This record gives sequence, structure tokens and C-alpha cells, in this order.
Amino acid sequence: MPEMPTLGAPPKQSQVIPLAVTAVVVGVLMGGLFWLRRPVEPTPAPTPPSAADTEIAGAPSAEAAANPAPVDPAAAPAVAAVAPGTAPVPAAPVAPAAPVADKSGLHGFTVSINGPLESAIVGSEGKEVGTALTQVVNRSLVWWLRVPQDLVKGDTLSAVYENRDGQEPLVHAVRFTSRKLGRTFETYRFKPATDSFARYYQADGSELEERLVDCPLESWEQVTSLLRDGRKHKGVDFKAPVGTPVKATFEGVVARKNWNFRGNGNSVEIHESGGAGRSALYLHLSELPKTLSVGQRIKKGETFAKSGNTGHSFAPHLHYQLMNGDKVIDPFVSHKTTRISLPASERSPFEHKKAELDALLPATALAGG
Ligand SMILES: [Zn+2]
Repeated sequence: MPEMPTLGAPPKQSQVIPLAVTAVVVGVLMGGLFWLRRPVEPTPAPTPPSAADTEIAGAPSAEAAANPAPVDPAAAPAVAAVAPGTAPVPAAPVAPAAPVADKSGLHGFTVSINGPLESAIVGSEGKEVGTALTQVVNRSLVWWLRVPQDLVKGDTLSAVYENRDGQEPLVHAVRFTSRKLGRTFETYRFKPATDSFARYYQADGSELEERLVDCPLESWEQVTSLLRDGRKHKGVDFKAPVGTPVKATFEGVVARKNWNFRGNGNSVEIHESGGAGRSALYLHLSELPKTLSVGQRIKKGETFAKSGNTGHSFAPHLHYQLMNGDKVIDPFVSHKTTRISLPASERSPFEHKKAELDALLPATALAGG
């Protein structure tokens, strides 16, 4: 499903008009859906790197044509400062007993979804943190369901987060009960001793995020933007420290480098060998090796550059974009994916962390129970 949901586009009733009877029925359904989904659509502002590099990533795309009103890049910088938090954030100490809020600054809340997710969160946590918090929470939800299409009235969301000066809020736990899917999802932020970053794990110890088997990075902190997250963004953003080695996801030839420097920064496009027709774009890199040249062959898995924060980027990250001709394709569809789990040695510390966070998650009733 390479096409992303359009942002701010009108509901698609027009497609179902022809049959009068059907139209009435579908119209009613769509009307209800629209009421729920429209407001839930994330506002463009909050997650800058992605919003920013969207329009400059390269060739014009079907997606761009379909979405005439692009994310306003001017809106980005405001939240940019807070976007994919730059500094590595150590797992905050969690005081055990206190419910809802504790002295470490962690704060739990729960909301019932009656329309826009953002309205619910802003209504509970205030405008100042609510907008950015919605974006961060969304990064978890997108691994479980389609946002906003799958959100329905009566869903419940609980989360534990921490406010940080000059940075986006740090989410430590999310629990979401979906009426549509009839189940409750949970994720907890936890740093395994074996990993350089804290990550999000589900209650059974599996990682929240899927991974690309042939990933452009060996190490990253979080995927902060996905094609399916409902924003108009053509790539996958991996939050990663400047200098992280970037590898080719397939064998190919360097087709161009450093085009549209102001937007893309140091960038490389690799055309896949073997007639598959795919191109991979790697943006916002650190300075490229002098030896890297257009026409050069690159092997799959070969490190050809390092990630950075160049061009229209507000925090260190790699923008990885896959194209087929002018068409943007989703790396999580086109590439093989996998989901890993915590090793046995990490289960006990994880259970401990999970229990601490569970104590801060306000109890929520299972919807529709
Ligand atoms: Zn991006």
C-alpha cells in the first residue's frame, strides 16, 4: 500500500455515489467515519524532519500530485526544535508506588476517544504539550493500526510521559484499546543492556517496531516517520546520531548525489541493479566521502556514507526513501521485514520496568466489554 492516506483531503464519498441506495448507506457510514477521522488527522506541524524533507526528496511523485496542499514547511521549525529529541535520553528513574504522577516527572493519563485523538490529548494534557504528545504517541499507534482510519469512538488511550524542556515529550508507555480490532495494545520504553538505545517493547517482550531486514542503518533509536502514519511524507525517518554508518539496501549504481542541497543536504540516490527499477534515496547525510562518485557500483550492505543532519533537517536522522520511477513506495512493504524480541537475559529487567510503568498507567476498562 504505497499510497499514503491523504492529509486534510476531503472524505471520499464521491467514489461511492453512483448507486443511490448504496450511497445512502455508505454515505451515512462515511459521514460517521469522516467525523471521526478528519480531526484525528495529525496536524502538519509537529514532526519536522519529515515534513521538511517531504517536498524536496526528489522526483515529483504521484503522491505529490495527489496531495496538492503539502505540509507547510514553515510550520516545521516551531516544533522542529522539539522534534526527534536530539540528546540521548537516559531512561528516567521511576518512583514505584505513586499513581498517575510521580516525582521523577513521569505523568500518566487516560482519555476516551470521541473524535480527534489530538483533541482528546490536548483536552487532557493541555495545548502546550498535547500537540507534540499526540505526534509522539502516534509513533506507537501506527505499528498497531491505521491512524486515523481505525480509530473509533469509544477507544481508550492511556500513556505515561515525561515533559522535557525544549524537546518533545518522552513517552514511556502507551496502552491503547481498540474497539475496531477488539484488543488492547501496550508498549513500554526499555533499554536493554545489550542495546545502545532505549526502545519500545510490547508486553510479550517483542519489539514494537518492525525492522527492515536489509536496513540502511545497523543502529538507530526510533523510526519517527512512516509512510503509513498519515502525514505527507515520502520516506522513513530513522532517528540516529550523526555519523551512523549508512548501508545500501540493494546492489546498484550511484545515480546522483547532493542534488537540491538546501533541502536534502548531503544525499545519495542509488538505482537498483537487475531491472527491478527501484531507487533508494538517502538524505541529510554527513559529508560524503570524496571518492563517492556518480556511476559507481555499490554492493548490497556496503557502507557508503554516514548519517547526519544536513539540509532541511532539525535533528540528526536518516531519511530513507524508496521510489519506483516517479512512484513513492513503502520500504516496509517493498523490503522484507522482521520483528525481534528481547533476549532471555533481558526479560526480568523488562518485567521490572513494565511493572513500574503499569503502576503509572491509569486503569482503563476494556472497551465494548
Ligand atoms: Zn524524512
